[in-house]
Amino acid sequence: MESVSIPAFPTGTILGYPRIGRRRELKRAVEAFWRGDIDVTELESRARELRRATRERLAELGLGRTDSSIPESFSFYDQVLDAAVTVGAVSAADLDAYFAFARGDASRAPLEMTKWFDSNYHYLVPEIGPETEFRLTGDRIVAEFLEAKADGFLTRPVIVGPVTLLALAKPSAEAPDGFAPLSRLEDVLPVYAELLGRLRAAGAEWVQLDEPALVSESLPDTADTLRAAAAAAYGRLGRVEDRPQLFVAAPYAELGAALATLAGTEVEAIGLDLVRGNIPADLFDCTRDALKTKTLVGGVIDGHNIWRGDLAAAFAKLELLRELSPRVAVSTSTSLLHVPHDTADEPQLEARLLSWLAFADQKVAQVATLAAGLERGAAAIRGALAEASAALADRLSAPGVRVPAVRERLAGLASADFERAPYRQRVAEQDAALSLPALPTTTIGSFPQTAEIRRARAALAAGRLDAAGYEAEMREEIRRVVALQEELGLDVLVHGEPERNDMVQYFAEQLDGFAVTVNGWVQSYGSRCTRPSILWGDVSRPAPMTVEWSRFAQSLTAKPMKGMLTGPVTILAWSFVRDDQPLADTANQVALALRDEIADLEDAGIRIVQVDEPALRELLPLKRAAQAAYLDWSVASFRLATGGADAATQVHTHLCYSEFGVVIDAIRALDADVTSIEAARSRMEVVDDLSRSRFDHGIGPGVYDIHSPRVPGVGELTELLTLAAARIPERQLWVNPDCGLKTRGYDETVASLRHVVAAARAVREHV
Ligand code: GLN
Ligand code: ZN
Repeated sequence: MESVSIPAFPTGTILGYPRIGRRRELKRAVEAFWRGDIDVTELESRARELRRATRERLAELGLGRTDSSIPESFSFYDQVLDAAVTVGAVSAADLDAYFAFARGDASRAPLEMTKWFDSNYHYLVPEIGPETEFRLTGDRIVAEFLEAKADGFLTRPVIVGPVTLLALAKPSAEAPDGFAPLSRLEDVLPVYAELLGRLRAAGAEWVQLDEPALVSESLPDTADTLRAAAAAAYGRLGRVEDRPQLFVAAPYAELGAALATLAGTEVEAIGLDLVRGNIPADLFDCTRDALKTKTLVGGVIDGHNIWRGDLAAAFAKLELLRELSPRVAVSTSTSLLHVPHDTADEPQLEARLLSWLAFADQKVAQVATLAAGLERGAAAIRGALAEASAALADRLSAPGVRVPAVRERLAGLASADFERAPYRQRVAEQDAALSLPALPTTTIGSFPQTAEIRRARAALAAGRLDAAGYEAEMREEIRRVVALQEELGLDVLVHGEPERNDMVQYFAEQLDGFAVTVNGWVQSYGSRCTRPSILWGDVSRPAPMTVEWSRFAQSLTAKPMKGMLTGPVTILAWSFVRDDQPLADTANQVALALRDEIADLEDAGIRIVQVDEPALRELLPLKRAAQAAYLDWSVASFRLATGGADAATQVHTHLCYSEFGVVIDAIRALDADVTSIEAARSRMEVVDDLSRSRFDHGIGPGVYDIHSPRVPGVGELTELLTLAAARIPERQLWVNPDCGLKTRGYDETVASLRHVVAAARAVREHV
């Protein structure tokens, strides 16, 4: 018999809840603090209110108040930064210092930011070297637990685990070549041990350590290294004398062999992502024996997506898990950070569509339902399972979900639809059609979204401005942007995208098969939120989407005007996508709509079309075995979108990252005539990578880093261009910023572009 004093893991829980607030209260508070409109006391008090409201809401939705089922997953900015602060890897004595790591200040540049696993959430990358001193500094995690306790809640503190924290860090500037932050594991563990002691002393019964690094095969450390680190870390933390029970969560993909590793340690509960992964079938007997002593937390409710899903199938997975351990609990597959709060906030959506959806609050309720099933037997929840199945069946047969005309067109595609004329022929025809100078200059598409533009859009939405008035204002803006580019002497112009609220939503609003939300905000990073559209049905294009704006812009200039589209992969990556068919099929439907748009742009006299794919890298699966198939369909969808373009039409693409790794062949396979890419911060390294891979199409390595308000000097731009020109033939080289300018102000934009043009002219004379 086991000692009864060990608190059981709660039968139902979630790995985390949206932190930004149902009405983005945290965003408002944090931004008010940054502006100096509220002081730190007021900020703390608003954050406390938000945490209170969250706990109350979760209890209302069915999580227990005093059984550790409510996770304490608040963050002012980012959970990785929080963990780094807690262990002293970055020292932030107060909130000003904390935010300075995120946003930079007079004395420091912000930490680098990058995507969190295969989501569109961005975390801050801590810098760790041999010199980093670890010591328990942050006490917020303890304070928040005590705050909850004072309100009558026994919650479960959540922190990024030591293996993931180090695996996601980058070597500090002081670190020698080849240094791996993970080599500091032994030094950081005592700090985690001390934290566990403090949490126990405060009364915590369970602590959640997030270790998604254990599922990834896309990190610098190999899976074997990560597993060895997990064995060491949880061996050590398991032996801490007086500690809470440990729940190690491994979201975002299958845990695989690391499950045996964790089973071999002293942790009491293991969280498995059973939406993205399966229960490993080939477990050794010793692992099976060890698992019988663990609580297995089945992440069967999708934390990444907004579909109500198949609840009966989710319950069946939990029953399978019961064959491994008598102690099984239900959870979400990931934190609910990736989904909006509540479908009740979207009354404008069609009732039928709404009945298919589950946002965070609905998912918590689903967890509560499945937990009841685990406790009282399947019969107790039969009604709820049947309702979910009925909604699913309704969705499969509803009009618009499967549209025969769209399906017939897809079925009729032939390989020729994915091929353009040979590159040589295209170059010849495009040169003749465009007559551009060497090292042509251009921008990525958007110009600063000014306060006037936003005001006009808000006025249109509120009905204070009619469509004609709005259109007139946008045309005025396009006129200004075109005149500015003429004056700056750029070679290939853009219309500036003033009419686009967002590069995905703009298209989603015009395509059939999509719905858009009003309050469906999801944290992207810090106080930044996006509102992903919902791709629920077969996609088609009822009418041209961008043609009139481009035609108008082209009418203002003799220089070539780039048509500007968002590519199929990015449209999928930044929406909530239907889960009832392969992503490849959905991507091809979007691609066909874009293909028709390109044909219409050509008819309107547009000779260059850019199809942005900034998210190509983001959707790359974490598991190597799945990457080739992903790259195949994602490249194919781009080729389908652009494959109908005339040989004389120059197709551009834009990618938003400079770490190519495994995607470099894919970039070549896109077969775009010109690819612009982030390169300023890595000093043109990508040009090397591309030239090594025999990339012989046009390349526009971004010379101007638009992520900062800094105006680069002509000298440094010339130097960067000279570096690039030394690495690839001059005929391939384009000159452009490294991303769109929509987040910049006009003054710095104009000054920077002036310098870009001057640098291009200087380099032209020497090559
Ligand atoms: N054309 C888009 C713009 O300029 C591209 C944005 C992006 O790469 N994220 O804003
Ligand atoms: Zn970009």
